[in-house]
Amino acid sequence: MTFQANYFDGLSSRAKPVLVRVAEHAKNITFEAEGEKFSFNLIDLNVQAKLGAAKRLIDLPNGGKLEAFDISELEAVIPTKASAFWRELHYLENHLGWVLVALAATIFAGWLFLQFGVPKLAEYVAKATPPAMEEKLGEQALQGLDSSVGYFSPSKADPTRKASITSALNNMCVALKDCPKYRLEFREGGVIGANAFALPGGIIVVTDEIITLSKNDTEIVAVLAHEMGHVKMRHALRQSLQGMLSGLILAAVTGDVSSIGSGLPAVLMQMRYSREHETEADMFALNAMQKACLPPKAFADILQRLEAQMRDVNEKGGDNKKGSNDKIAGNAHTQNADAISEMLSSHPDTLTRIKLFLEAKQNCN
Ligand SMILES: [Zn+2]
Repeated sequence: MTFQANYFDGLSSRAKPVLVRVAEHAKNITFEAEGEKFSFNLIDLNVQAKLGAAKRLIDLPNGGKLEAFDISELEAVIPTKASAFWRELHYLENHLGWVLVALAATIFAGWLFLQFGVPKLAEYVAKATPPAMEEKLGEQALQGLDSSVGYFSPSKADPTRKASITSALNNMCVALKDCPKYRLEFREGGVIGANAFALPGGIIVVTDEIITLSKNDTEIVAVLAHEMGHVKMRHALRQSLQGMLSGLILAAVTGDVSSIGSGLPAVLMQMRYSREHETEADMFALNAMQKACLPPKAFADILQRLEAQMRDVNEKGGDNKKGSNDKIAGNAHTQNADAISEMLSSHPDTLTRIKLFLEAKQNCN
């Protein structure tokens, strides 16, 4: 029994065509390559698994390789290792249906991991993150947002108004007795417009634009109570970690590292809390307002105004794309349609939230 093969000596990449003789009785193979004779025991050969329609490779004990299209002669006599498994694999590889099933299963498993595994992982990492480190991360994020073009500039809001908001929030916390450590930062919002959000480490940023949008301090305190909920449950840290982990995993899978290089400010601006986190923050806010004898309706009021403004911006944003007149685009300078207010993020069901706060009783005792 013989078969045609190419012999590679393991030293050069040059193929030497050979005729391999399979001797069943001697349990060996022999061939001659450019005048040199070779003989190898069958049990010393390692026949590599069949991969699709590729040529078969046989590892030789001298470090060389044989490459052949058809080695059925050899396979008939060779003691195969784990052959059942490889036969199965080969069967699957040759049946597109199974390949697609396997591909779909792999994608689904990957999606499951990103969807559920990564948040769980982020939660564990967040628990293990020392508060000092979280504070540092928050400070760096704030510095990044302050220095990035288009995000923050120093607040121009009335200092008296800022002082009264600060003290109103403090009063709520005194009544609630359950506020986490926090620090209020006032900024002009730029592209993010009317907004308030929590950075890791308890920094709560509130923009001039949302102060302008509010009718009274209670509305701002309601918004800040929601942010306080995010701070309390360290959502910002968890979400940042989740974003970084997902980014790293996607980069590892796709080999595209540009997604991680976009920088923390951009990551934070694109950050959307999960619906679960938003509900937790809402519940915290509702409880805080009731404990502090504040009308929960104030939260519903500003939420409605925010949403109306967002709709307005989106409509104007559409106009901007058609005719680029800087005067018309004026609104887009202060409010970017992409930068959805944190209050409305991941909440297509704003109405449900508004209803919750409208129906909740003001609790004063
Ligand atoms: Zn939120």
